[in-house]
This record gives sequence, structure tokens and C-alpha cells, in this order.
Amino acid sequence: MSFLIKFARQWIAGETLDDAIDSARKANSNGLGAIINYLGEHVRDKEEAEANKNENFRILQEIKENKINSSLSIKLTQLGLGIDKDLCLSNVEAIVDRAASNNIFVWIDMESSIYTQDTIEIYLTIFKKYKNAGVAIQSNLIRSESDIHRIAASGGIIRLVKGAYNEKSDVAYPGRSEVTMNFSKIMGFLFYRSPFFAIATHDERLVYEAIEANKAHQKKIEFQMLLGVREELKNELVKKGFTVVDYIPYGKKWLPYSLRRIRERKRNILLIFRSIFDI
Ligand SMILES: Cc1cc2nc3c(=O)[nH]c(=O)nc-3n(C[C@H](O)[C@H](O)[C@H](O)COP(=O)(O)OP(=O)(O)OC[C@H]3O[C@@H](n4cnc5c(N)ncnc54)[C@H](O)[C@@H]3O)c2cc1C
Repeated sequence: MSFLIKFARQWIAGETLDDAIDSARKANSNGLGAIINYLGEHVRDKEEAEANKNENFRILQEIKENKINSSLSIKLTQLGLGIDKDLCLSNVEAIVDRAASNNIFVWIDMESSIYTQDTIEIYLTIFKKYKNAGVAIQSNLIRSESDIHRIAASGGIIRLVKGAYNEKSDVAYPGRSEVTMNFSKIMGFLFYRSPFFAIATHDERLVYEAIEANKAHQKKIEFQMLLGVREELKNELVKKGFTVVDYIPYGKKWLPYSLRRIRERKRNILLIFRSIFDI
């Protein structure tokens, strides 16, 4: 377990909001923007959701007071989606409203496919009222292409990702190459339909594809990557003048996030195995 904690540290700013602010400040000084995320998902009661909402308020306050170039990312099951959709909607609205008055952007992370419909509905409800919010869409899901059409038609703002959750074959593309192809297809659509969107991947072929496409389309795009992943690629893009943003998670509930990071790369799984069996 101690190896796991040490290993996971590469992707997490630390346990406290101060750690996240320090990490965001460092990102800013290296020419990157930041997205701060308070770790935690699947709350079981209203009180926990309320406490998480308050922590997100604290993030907004700290971003403002420290004059950090950062947005916020939230997960809806952290704010009660698994208990009561209306409760979640009111928590999200309170956060986005507070962020709007501080001129801070809020990204809604996308969780596993059982939450996709509700997440998009909550996002579109919020977006009718507030323009400082965007939502992640996963290219591994078969439904995403039509979701993108619907969101783009409402003028919504999208962060395109491959998808970090294990999904069944009735809802998701089975192989990595199909997921990458679908990413490419959706990204192509966004270049036609969306004035601003985020490309959140460490896959350099997709990054370079976006750079090429944008020569013709001249859209406002931003590259988003996770803290501790592909630092050299981030720096290269910053040097070339692109907008690059570091996703910075913090908090005590680091395990589910770290397990997703371990699973998405074979080398990480091997390293964990080696440490357990000492090979
Ligand atoms: C800013 C941001 C926000 C995200 N938000 C969401 C979200 O809301 N919902 C969601 O489901 N997913 C989200 N993701 C995760 C995403 O879906 C993928 O699981 C993750 O980005 C890995 O896929 P990839 O596109 O980087 O491509 P991959 O093909 O997995 O990776 C490409 C290359 O990047 C490097 N790399 C990738 N992951 C790692 C790692 N963990 N450790 C070390 N190197 C690595 C490797 O060199 C790899 O060859 C987000 C990702 C980013 C960057």
C-alpha cells in the first residue's frame, strides 16, 4: 500500500487545498493554466454532498484571492447525483453561480455511463443560465457522437476525452483504436461546429491532428492534460504558443482516481505488479 501511495503521488497535488494552489501556481509559472479538482465521488448522503459543495466554494475563493489562472472541475456524484438529481442540480448551480461571479470557469467531469444522461441534462440546464461551464464527453461511448451534436446545437462547451471507465460492449467501443478513431471523428465535428473546446488527451497523434486541423479552422482550442503525465509534451506545446492546462486533483480520496490512472497504461500496471511481487 505504501508503494501505491508513493506511486499515486505523481498524479495528485497533495491532500490539501494549499497543495493544489501551490501546484497551480507552479503550472502558471511554467506557462500552463490550471484546473483544480477536489477528489471524491459517490457520496452517500446530503451532508457529504453539502460538505463537498463547500470545499468547492473554498477552491473558488482561493483561486480568486491568490490570483491563480485556474478553472474548477467537479464530479456530479460528489455533489449528490447518485442520491437525488435535483439536489445535485442545486449544488452544481450554486457552484457555477459563485464561479460566474468570480469569473471562473467550471468543468463538469463525466463519470461512468450510468450517469451520462443525467450529467448532460444537468449541464444543459445549467448552461441555459450560465456560460462559464463546460462538460466532458468520452469518445469510448457509442452515444457520444449524438450527445456532441445535441450539446453543440445548444452552444455548449465540450472537453473531449477518451474515457476512463470500464464500460460494457453494448455502450462502448471495444478497442483502443476504435476509441481513438471516434475521438478523431468527434474532434473533426467540433472544429466545424464549436468556437471553443478542449482536447484532453496525452495521445500526441491526436494533439498534432488538432494542431493541423486548427490551421484551417482557427478555433479557440485548449489542450488539457493530467498532472504528472507527459510533462515534456506540455512544455513543447507551451513553447509553440498553444494554450495548455494542467488538471490538478487534490484530497484524501485519491484511490479511485489513481486506480483509473494505473489501469489506463500497461506500464503502470506492470510497475505495481513488480513492486508487489518484488520482481
Ligand atoms: C484534463 C483531463 C480531463 C479528463 N476528464 C475526464 C472525464 O471527465 N471523464 C473521463 O472518463 N475521463 C477523463 N479523462 C481521462 C481520459 O478519459 C483518459 O482516460 C486519459 O486521458 C488517458 O487517455 P489518453 O487520451 O491520454 O490516451 P492514451 O492512449 O491512454 O495515452 C496516450 C499516451 O499518454 C501517456 N499516458 C496516458 N495516461 C497515462 C498515465 N496514467 N500515466 C502515464 N502516462 C500516461 C502514455 O504515454 C500514453 O501512451 C481526462 C483526461 C484529461 C487529460
